[in-house]
This record gives sequence, C-alpha cells and structure tokens, in this order.
Amino acid sequence: MLHNTLVELRGNIRVHCRVRPLMPFDTGSDETSTLGRQGTLSEQVVHVVDDETVVVKASSRPGQGTKAFEYERVYAPLECQDAVFEEVQPLLTSLLDGYNVCIMAYGQTGSGKTHTMLGPPQSKDYGYHNEEQHNPQEGVIPKATRELFRLLAEKPPDTHTVEVSVVEIYNNDIRDLLGGDDRKHDVLTAGDGSLDVPSLTYRTVEGVQQVMELVQYGMKHRAEDATLIHSHSSRSHLIVTLTVTVNSGVVTPTSPITDYNVFAVPQSAPPKSERGRRTLPVPSSPSPIPHHMHSKTRSRSPSPARPPTPINCFKTKLQLVDLAGSECVGMSGVTGAALRETSYINKSLSALADVLGALAEHRAHVPYRNARLTHMLQDSIGGDAKLLVMCCVSPAQRYLSESLQCLGFGQRAR
Ligand code: ADP
Ligand code: MG
Repeated sequence: MLHNTLVELRGNIRVHCRVRPLMPFDTGSDETSTLGRQGTLSEQVVHVVDDETVVVKASSRPGQGTKAFEYERVYAPLECQDAVFEEVQPLLTSLLDGYNVCIMAYGQTGSGKTHTMLGPPQSKDYGYHNEEQHNPQEGVIPKATRELFRLLAEKPPDTHTVEVSVVEIYNNDIRDLLGGDDRKHDVLTAGDGSLDVPSLTYRTVEGVQQVMELVQYGMKHRAEDATLIHSHSSRSHLIVTLTVTVNSGVVTPTSPITDYNVFAVPQSAPPKSERGRRTLPVPSSPSPIPHHMHSKTRSRSPSPARPPTPINCFKTKLQLVDLAGSECVGMSGVTGAALRETSYINKSLSALADVLGALAEHRAHVPYRNARLTHMLQDSIGGDAKLLVMCCVSPAQRYLSESLQCLGFGQRAR
C-alpha cells in the first residue's frame, strides 16, 4: 500500500536517466563506435552527481560549459539491474490495481536500452536463464514478468489470465513477431473505448519462462536488412505487451461496487476471439473472458437497450518498449530504404516527444495518432496510466550531441 501511495504522489509520468559505464568501443582511435564513427580517444563527459542529478561537462568544446539535468532518479554507471528494478516494482502493484503501465527505454544506439529492458545483449538469451534461477543481470522485461506472476500467485486461483504479444514497429508498420506472416496490423478502438490491435497473435502464458521464450522467439524474427545503415534491431521499436484480465466472479446484490466493477456487455456480443483476434491458450488456462469487460477508468456507458450485468472484472496492460535508436542520422546523401527508415524513426520519435510534451503540460489535445508508435501506446501512456521513461545515455565524449539530445528529451517529458 505504501508503494501505491508513493506512486500516486509522483504522478503519472516519471522520467529516469541511466548512464551506462564507459565501454571499450567508446575509447581508442582504432575502434569503430556503435554509431559507426571512427573516433578519437574518448573521455567521459556525462557525470552522475547524485541520484537525481546528472551533469554534462562539454569542456572540450569551446563555448560550451556544464549543463545539469534533474530527474526523479538517476542511475550511475555501476548501479545494477536490481537497482533499476527496485524503482519499477511499484508499477506492477499499480498494474494489478487496475492501472495500465508503460516502461520505455529511449536513447541512441549503444546507450544501453536493450541492456536495461531485456538484459546484456552480448550474453546468450540476454541473461535470462530459467524460471527458477533469477539472474541479477536480467533486465526489466524478465524481472517485471517474474514479479507479475509472483503477485498473481498470491491471488485466488483461476481469477486471472495473462496474454502476451510481441511486435516491432518498423517504418510505421506494426509487425507481429509471433505471427509468422507479413499481414498488416492496425490499432483499433474496441467497443469499450480501449485501444487494441486485434489481428495480432496473443499467447496465453502462465509464467516467466513462457513469456521469455516468446520474447526471444520474437527477437529472432526481427527482420534484418543488411543494406540498411544500422542493424535492423536498432531501427525499429520493440513492444512487448502483457495483458492481464482479472475476473473475481459475479458481484452479488449485497457486494459493494468496487472501483473495478464494470458492466459486461450481454452474452450475445461476440467475444473478441470471434472478431479476428488470434488467441492461442495453453490447455490449463481458464476460459477466455469477453473482451468488453474493462476497468472503470476506461469504461463507456453500456448500451441503454440491454440491461447490463455487473461483474467484478477488469483488464490492464503492461507495455514494455525498447525504442529505436534516437541518434540524429544525417539525411543528406541517404537514399532509398535507408532514407525511408530514417525518416520514419525521426517522425515516430518526434511524435512521441509531442505526446509526452502535451501530457506534461496537461494539454486538452494529445496527438497520439500522428504515429503508430504513440497510437499503439496511447492506453498505457495517457489518461491515468503510469509511464516510466528511462533515458539511456553513454558517458563518452564521442556521443556528446546524442546524450544532450536524449537528456533534453527527458526534461521536456517531465
Ligand atoms: P542499445 O540497445 O541502446 O543499442 P545496448 O543495450 O546494446 O544499447 O548496450 C550497448 C553495450 O553497452 C552492450 O554491450 C551492453 O551490454 C553495454 N551496456 C549497456 N548498459 C550497460 C550497463 N548499465 N552496464 C554494463 N554494460 C552496459
Ligand atoms: Mg538495442
């Protein structure tokens, strides 16, 4: 409960900054950096002052001084994955209280986004071993999934279903990484006003092992195109969505109506699976719950023609996002597929900046629909959803302009 109160007080958007350690590819004149630059010996220009302040000392650039940035939490280079997860954990409690949650990593290629979200990219299976063996090196996705199932295990049995989907957004197209075909997918508004991509593959899962197998399967199916300037994985956004449906049964007339009592649409309404959604349940899972049941926060008035049946049921969504690299790639001299790719990344990340700016300023209109990325995340970043933006930066001189851009992005989102 204390956790919840703290989350409440901190509001709906929190921005953290993680500075990764200097890596071998940051220094030395012969190395090629992650952005493909031949660099000179790199020095550290991004310094963590305390757990809320980071400074950029651009001393080697005449005319540029020291610039300080403040965030709700700043992680120093040697802070471990568990330190990050400590801050993430309360969001899972919020998830099961009925809030949608999004955790996203923003930053240039090589700044530590995948390390933070999934685990060390160079290690086999991103540091995930198995269900029993918690590896401290695991990133947010396996740790959050473990925690989700730990919390669900404390609830009465058969009262919840968890489904997972894994997609990438590449050139503004949603690609189903569990689907095995190149079908087009779009974000649709469901009858209850919530957003969904019904044509995706949703797998019912019962533990962290199944989730990680699906995520790793999805990662292998991110298409690579060798002709493009960077490896494909840094040129698309990865979104892992865990949808939790909690069903505590029918509310009796004497039961108090809780925050999440909602009005189910009549049984005659087609369940979601009949409307095109591909649900592949594991045999022992509870029977699917009609999609139209939802939390109060996203409820719409039931159809006046058909009297509703009250059911204590709600659905929440956890979206975990490893964004495409935010480096500014020069457009001059770039043609064909690379030009298209670069302009889509620039457009989607600036659409994200616009959305976060509008939310931070409490503007009435939030332009979610300017990019598939923001449209797909709308439910888990807007309204009363809880969003954590992790700004990942390299400490190296070589990436000074990218780091300043990323830190500025984080400041505007607050
Ligand atoms: P991105 O996904 O942003 O392109 P990566 O996650 O691939 O960046 O990180 C680039 C390299 O830096 C990888 O070798 C990764 O293991 C390493 N790295 C990133 N963050 C950390 C960290 N906090 N601690 C140790 N190594 C890190
Ligand atoms: Mg990456």
